[in-house]
Amino acid sequence: MDPLFERLHAVFGYDTFRPHQEDIVRQVVGGGDALVIMPTGGGKSLCYQLPALLRPGTGIVVSPLIALMQDQVAALKQLGVQAEFLNSSLSAEAARRVENDLLAGRLDLLYVAPERLLTERFLGLLERIKPALFAIDEAHCVSQWGHDFRPEYVQLSLLHERFPRVPRIALTATADAPTRKEIAQRLQLEAARHFVTGFDRPNIRYQVRVDEGGAREQLLRFIEERHAGEAGIVYCLSRRKVDEVADWLNGKGLTALPYHAGMDGAQRKHNQSRFLNEDGIIMVATIAFGMGIDKPDVRFVAHLSLPKSLEAYYQETGRAGRDGEPAEAWMRYSLADAILLRQMVDNSEADEAHKRLERRKLDAMLGYCELTSCRRQALLAYFGDVLPEPCGNCDNCLEPQETWDATEAARKALSCVHRTGQRFGVTYLIDVLLGKDDERIRRFGHDRVSTFGIGTDLGEREWRAVFRQLVARGHLKVDAEGHGGLALSDTCRPLLKGEETLEVGRQHLEPRRKRGKSGTKARAGAPALAGNPLFQALRDKRMELARAQGVPPYVVFADKTLAAMVEVRPQSLAEFARLSGVGEHKLERYGEAFLAVIRGNG
Ligand code: ADP
Ligand code: ZN
Repeated sequence: MDPLFERLHAVFGYDTFRPHQEDIVRQVVGGGDALVIMPTGGGKSLCYQLPALLRPGTGIVVSPLIALMQDQVAALKQLGVQAEFLNSSLSAEAARRVENDLLAGRLDLLYVAPERLLTERFLGLLERIKPALFAIDEAHCVSQWGHDFRPEYVQLSLLHERFPRVPRIALTATADAPTRKEIAQRLQLEAARHFVTGFDRPNIRYQVRVDEGGAREQLLRFIEERHAGEAGIVYCLSRRKVDEVADWLNGKGLTALPYHAGMDGAQRKHNQSRFLNEDGIIMVATIAFGMGIDKPDVRFVAHLSLPKSLEAYYQETGRAGRDGEPAEAWMRYSLADAILLRQMVDNSEADEAHKRLERRKLDAMLGYCELTSCRRQALLAYFGDVLPEPCGNCDNCLEPQETWDATEAARKALSCVHRTGQRFGVTYLIDVLLGKDDERIRRFGHDRVSTFGIGTDLGEREWRAVFRQLVARGHLKVDAEGHGGLALSDTCRPLLKGEETLEVGRQHLEPRRKRGKSGTKARAGAPALAGNPLFQALRDKRMELARAQGVPPYVVFADKTLAAMVEVRPQSLAEFARLSGVGEHKLERYGEAFLAVIRGNG
């Protein structure tokens, strides 16, 4: 048998490679260099872990985040791989022990922080052993333009100079071309083979709806119906909202924990550790939460308000489904969110050029929400990736929105903004269009303008959609003073002159759930699993084993492997060994324990 597949199966318990993995592994095993651009969840770690096992010597992995290192090493140990890490969290004595193991050739993989790797002392150690390879994880940290810039990363080119014969593999999920070029240059990887997989996260289903009231209740229903007992993150804009939503969800019988910068550090740490180490916790958080969180089995990410840019949205939703299993990105947004974010930009200390950029990003975000076509295509296009066909796994693909011609309505709306002096907010403008009997309107004399009462052919909901669309397209701009007043911008002229039309989507209030359609299958079976007593018993067993070792449950077995146990119901170790995710070590260590649970729940 091909040693590649033999190790893949024996150690990791997998039968097949994910896209690109095999080519990358062969390249590195053969002593060549590689630059790997693969989205989160694509399976990057295997690309250096497997070659490290196949080549003589120890694989040296440079990694910038202590928490990620610890997670990886814990997962490798579960597989029976001799892995350790060296970073500032170790005592001097523990570090010495690891160094001795390294020198004695006892390690398959060693994770090390960049600043330690670059010390003369450590480089001296490396000269006394035989590194199997150098893996540079999160390689975008060399980019001076990115927000994760690490000065030590730039010096990693020194590895190539000191150890020219040791293959190097650099990996990142950051796929834009300038960053890629910068990585190749700075790490002297121009001659390396490049493997680029793009941005798509096909297992994430995108769903976006306007918040027309009742967003919280809709979130609850979404969690109960589609993600009962599963881990998820709920993002809110403010700390107050975080506390409120967490309390409310707890009151409904879910386990939700708050996380925001206003909490005391110890409490925050405690909540984060529960999220990582227990099953089915919902983290309600501001965007302060998420950096360096590598929990693979987050099944949903919900936004209760508009993110500030598509970059932020992609990153935050990207925390769902790192294990490659089906996951959902769910959002409720409103024009009020957009106005608030806009005011935050306008009132910030940044210079004008920067503000302009931030405004453009916000407009793109709102535009994405207002889309009636495939969301994934638009999201990828924004990052310069092309998806030739609609994805079949977003709300607009699964349940196409009807659109209506809102050109005439848009003209009335723009005219109303003009007639009332370009300083009122949406609610007021709609009241004028609907001809509401209102004291304020009379006081301003707006019951006598020509647009008073000309909009009664539409309801408030339609009018809101028209205004949102006008703001999303930049035809209306929000005032800088902070009252949410709307003013005309130059771009609205063609629309007023009848040279341009405006289409508005009729968003379904609550998605109807059609069964048996393509794409829906991605989730089929999962809700049933949550209530499945065998699945629950297997999860309990997993939790018990994880607790005893002080590791997160997902390093014992992934949910997918537990699901396979429920489906296959193996009766013997031989059958158990055939499950995906069961390598030799885990078979020996856990096989009997899980078989007993399966037999006991027949
Ligand atoms: P990345 O670092 O690219 O975000 P990971 O290396 O963490 O991704 O892998 C994501 C998930 O995919 C992990 O749960 C891993 O066990 C799983 N995985 C990786 N390669 C394979 C494979 N060949 N077959 C099945 N599962 C895989
Ligand atoms: Zn789609």
